[in-house]
Amino acid sequence: TGFSMPTPLQILNSVFGFPAFRGQQAEVIEHVVAGGDALVLMPTGAGKSLCYQVPALCRDGVAVVVSPLIALMQNQVEALNQLGVRAAALNSARSLDEVRVIERRMRAGELDLVYVAPERLVLPGFLALLDECRIALFAIDEAHCVSQWGHDFRPEYLQLALLHERFPHVPRIALTATADGPTRRDIAERLNLGDGRHFVAGFDRPNIRYRIAAKNNAREQLLRFLAAEHGGPGAESGIVYCLSRAKVEETASWLAGKGYTALAYHAGLDQPVRAANQERFLREDGIVMVATIAFGMGIDKPDVRFVAHLDLPKSLEAYYQETGRAGRDGMPADAWMAYGLEDVAKLGQFIASSPSSDAQKRIERGKLNALLGLCETARCRRQVLLEYFGETGAGPCGNCDTCLEPVASFDGTELARKALSC
Ligand code: ADP
Ligand code: MG
Repeated sequence: TGFSMPTPLQILNSVFGFPAFRGQQAEVIEHVVAGGDALVLMPTGAGKSLCYQVPALCRDGVAVVVSPLIALMQNQVEALNQLGVRAAALNSARSLDEVRVIERRMRAGELDLVYVAPERLVLPGFLALLDECRIALFAIDEAHCVSQWGHDFRPEYLQLALLHERFPHVPRIALTATADGPTRRDIAERLNLGDGRHFVAGFDRPNIRYRIAAKNNAREQLLRFLAAEHGGPGAESGIVYCLSRAKVEETASWLAGKGYTALAYHAGLDQPVRAANQERFLREDGIVMVATIAFGMGIDKPDVRFVAHLDLPKSLEAYYQETGRAGRDGMPADAWMAYGLEDVAKLGQFIASSPSSDAQKRIERGKLNALLGLCETARCRRQVLLEYFGETGAGPCGNCDTCLEPVASFDGTELARKALSC
């Protein structure tokens, strides 16, 4: 047909109502609209969805989006429908009649995007349906699920490699927020994205000050830190992460005894208690949430001024994600952690005694070592963190503890390794 397609910027303005692209969005979109494959690594909240939604509207045919969670699909489809975009989700929540209607609309070219679960996409019947449709692109969201190196491996993602063989001319874009170098290469390999371009960007959170203190009495250290940097009780909101439920409870009541409004959050609390505590944290000011890693998914409180770790997180990905909850409003915020070798030994033992395979244990040990690298470094912490996520070339940040108070280089890694090997 002879009419010309709108440009990505026109789509962004007129459909999504945004004035400009962010970060690398424009580059990614241009590449995919032109038919190229891409692997996109951007942190949560950076705007990965538009990287396939805009090309879906620029290219002819229906975009097929693979997404691992029904809830995620549902949210996206509702948001798109509200913007007037013709989108639907095919998943187990659909009745047979609803599925038929969606399939008919796909064949008739009446849908711009269809979201599907990976296990449905690879069904012979669904692939046959796709043969009858014009396909704009394939988008593989949460693409780290394809890698055993990632933290959320989904075997059904492995079969997505067949898309390349079956539909060689359809561009594919894989997107994820969490992937270190090896995971990224693994994703590209498993999805057969050999010639695809990698877009890695935007992991820096310049307003977060990273600090890692040698642990001696972590609770007292935390108290001093809160008094010195965050105005003492009631002044600012923050999260304190602990490894165990028991320690969460102890720490919360201890902080309460020191005058803080401290609430607890872990998976062992009754659902209404958890919900009430979360609600208070979001609504009120000056609350300290003491929590296990069960807390935080989907929490979007802009003015969290500090995230403190009394115990080591599991990996640099986890550290980045957890500390990333601080300072969403762009104002100065602290990521503070107390780190001791006994924690390293404890995590090492967790790994050793876990039921996972030897290969899996090697991966987990590798991740722990990378985390130790951050704790032990005499270099800029931000540089070490960003390099792990593939962002190289930044200078020292001038805002983390190692930049602000350089220490005589001390290589504790050897000690840590010993602790780990027991
Ligand atoms: P991700 O998948 O990377 O976590 P999303 O795609 O969910 O992020 O986007 C996060 C938020 O940012 C959404 O509310 C989205 O509308 C918004 N957003 C994305 N790109 C832009 C842009 N160019 N201009 C304004 N807002 C944007
Ligand atoms: Mg997303």
